Amino acid sequence: NYESYPYDHMLKIRKQNVSPSLATYYKKPLLLHQGHMQWLFDYEGRRYLDLFAGIVTVSVGHCHPKVTAAAQKQLGRLWHTTNIYMHPSIQEYAEKLTALLPDPLKVVYLTNSGSEANDLAMFMARLYTRNFDIICFRGGYHGGSPYTQGVTSIRSYKHGVANGFGCPTTMLPDVFRGPWGGSHCRDSPVQTVRKCSCSAGHCHANDQYIEQFKDTLNTCVPKGIAGFIAESIQGVNGAVQYPKSFLKEAFQLVREREGVCIADEVQTGFGRTGSHFWGFQTHDVVPDIVTMAKGIGNGFPMAAVVTTREIANSLAQNLHFNTFGGNPVACVVGSAVLDAIVEDGLQKNSEEVGTYMLLELAKVRDKFEIIGDVRGKGLMIGIEMVKDKDGCQPLPTEEMNQIWEDCKDMGVLIGKGGIYGQTFRIKPPMCITKQDADFALEVFHAALMRYMERKAAK
Ligand code: PMP
Repeated sequence: NYESYPYDHMLKIRKQNVSPSLATYYKKPLLLHQGHMQWLFDYEGRRYLDLFAGIVTVSVGHCHPKVTAAAQKQLGRLWHTTNIYMHPSIQEYAEKLTALLPDPLKVVYLTNSGSEANDLAMFMARLYTRNFDIICFRGGYHGGSPYTQGVTSIRSYKHGVANGFGCPTTMLPDVFRGPWGGSHCRDSPVQTVRKCSCSAGHCHANDQYIEQFKDTLNTCVPKGIAGFIAESIQGVNGAVQYPKSFLKEAFQLVREREGVCIADEVQTGFGRTGSHFWGFQTHDVVPDIVTMAKGIGNGFPMAAVVTTREIANSLAQNLHFNTFGGNPVACVVGSAVLDAIVEDGLQKNSEEVGTYMLLELAKVRDKFEIIGDVRGKGLMIGIEMVKDKDGCQPLPTEEMNQIWEDCKDMGVLIGKGGIYGQTFRIKPPMCITKQDADFALEVFHAALMRYMERKAAK
């Protein structure tokens, strides 16, 4: 009975007995009671519009009735492993999921978390190519397991122990923060004009970043590389977008060096970017391995790796086992999520509401000196906060936090990201309405006005 469990006592237990490396959001962490679609409710009965979807995890809506019903039904029948016996759910799900992916991505492995999925993808890349190096972007987050810690390259997630060898980081083609501009060469309805030497139809910034990528390839073992892992829009780092043609050219260079291309769709998949079901499709590429988690289960712990038959065969030479990966409850949940995306028209909604929000946020950016950049696609949005418009100096953490807390106090939860924690992240459940977007914009605007008042009073 949580209602009779005092808040302060819970905080104490959390500090004493729960992993101390967890970062709890807000000065007074929220004590959540219930979720319904785009809304969260705390124990005091306060309602919040969830613009962060519990870290981009809830895709179709908190406790979506269809997904909940599917889970409940299966929980009453069988929750077991599907790895040594047959159960229809895993076949049905594998068929449904692979139908959404282009050829030759037709073989599915089910796992329980994004880290595990990326671990397996890296393992397969190495096994298949018999090479070792896996290139990753600076600023990327791909997991916290020993293998994936090598390709997670954000300072706050790094630990001083040996892990993840052979993961050279390459320069992030960040067209806002990087030295060559190019923000109008990204695939977004909004542009932030920065000094840039690109000409119509040709992205000079992209050429520079590709040169950097080639340089990184030259730091690798000459025999060949195992692969390259990237998101199509960087999530934890604050919705960082690359020039439109970067991934296509980079994929080609990787393949010339025998490597495989891994698309981490943990945040960008399942319709979130609006125009396409998968983020990689917005870059006009077909990866060799795709990893998925978070939104795949709408909050239920499940994840997946999809690859080609040829790559899968390299792992089939011996047994590979995962007790809970693909358990019947996860499979029916995953299946119901896919149905909900189609039946509720959520990809189209992401595009419509996301584009609306981006265009409105660009107007807010023009009004406030401390908003450097508004970017993203669909419901994968970043708002980068700066000291002043001419530079990229991050807004100091205390000021950032105050705006963030104010939004929460007014009923809107947003995320934070970026190497300096300088970017607000908006990635709500995809069922958010235009009316919700208006409410969120009003609250964000009010929080910025409060910031201005505080500044003027100093
Ligand atoms: N890839 C990306 C892009 C992520 O954002 C995350 C989680 N933040 C992961 C992988 C790891 O997923 P998990 O926490 O489920 O291990």
